[in-house]
Amino acid sequence: MAKIIMSPSKYIQGNGELKKLYAHTANLGTTFLVLATEGGMKRIKHIVEESFKDQSKKLVFEIFNKECSKEEINRLIEICKSNGCDAVIGIGGGKLLDTAKAVSYYEKMPVVIVPTIASTDAPCSALSVLYTPEGVFDQYLVLPKNPEMVLMDTDIIAKAPARLLVAGMGDALATYFEARACDISKATNMAGLLPAKSAYALAQLCYETLLEEGLKAKLALENKVVTPAVENIIEANTYLSGIGFESGGLAAAHAIHNGFTVLKECHHLYHGEKVAFGTLVQLVMENCSMEEIEEVIQFCKSIELPITLGQMGVKEVKPKEIMEVAKASCAEGETIYNMPFEVTAESVYAAILTADAIGKRYL
Ligand SMILES: [Zn+2]
Repeated sequence: MAKIIMSPSKYIQGNGELKKLYAHTANLGTTFLVLATEGGMKRIKHIVEESFKDQSKKLVFEIFNKECSKEEINRLIEICKSNGCDAVIGIGGGKLLDTAKAVSYYEKMPVVIVPTIASTDAPCSALSVLYTPEGVFDQYLVLPKNPEMVLMDTDIIAKAPARLLVAGMGDALATYFEARACDISKATNMAGLLPAKSAYALAQLCYETLLEEGLKAKLALENKVVTPAVENIIEANTYLSGIGFESGGLAAAHAIHNGFTVLKECHHLYHGEKVAFGTLVQLVMENCSMEEIEEVIQFCKSIELPITLGQMGVKEVKPKEIMEVAKASCAEGETIYNMPFEVTAESVYAAILTADAIGKRYL
């Protein structure tokens, strides 16, 4: 089987880079749909306008309707058609960026992704998650290509709450371990092909960067400043983890995250916070050395990612509920079957309780 690595055509990251939006995107279109949330529009519209000042390009600003649904995508497509848009710029968080990607796919035009947070590794990927207008999961929209550009303005990202960057580190923490499991089992990645060696190398660099820079970055952000560590973590969360997961492959950690979405008590958690605990569970399933498990636990503890069920919001551990989580983790088609050994709901259940018990020893 063939190998693959996929990525956005350009990944640009720097302090104040949004001010150079025109210079970065001028060759991509003549009439741009610029999508932002209501609050986001207040913060970024003048920066975007200033960047395009005295240029012949046209900007069509539109406020995002909060949900990445087919209805919202169709509404934006109509706006693109009536204004003659030939490129789309999405400035904001996960659902908004997914919507921008979907609009660009249906309208066959370039998309520029400008994340204002670094809380997941989704921006670089060729994937949109669609929801119903009520916010219930609808379907995955697998796109034929990655975005033309991902532009990270670290000054803007640093203004978001530190917890979001920490959640992004939780999402990025799983990348190396899931890619490693896929490498052993020769599992296919999100493109249905084998991961290229280079994707695995990026996943390794992702984990090394987290261990080296994670705590320093969190402390800097809590003081609302950008340091080299913050820059490195933004790149690890967004690019290294983005390429690492999409081309390196997913395994148990993300499936266990999906399992935890059945627990109401965990609904307040960010994606990456659940993925971090899912990573710990995966390590227990793999019977990794205590040394490796401890390294991951100490990292999570240092930046305040959950290492126990209690920290995940589970006040009382009920065996029946944990079994429901384990069963949901093992749903048909889940990436947990990329693990290099047989997985059952019983083995996941055992690993969740053991991970919790190990985590408690480090509290
Ligand atoms: Zn993730």
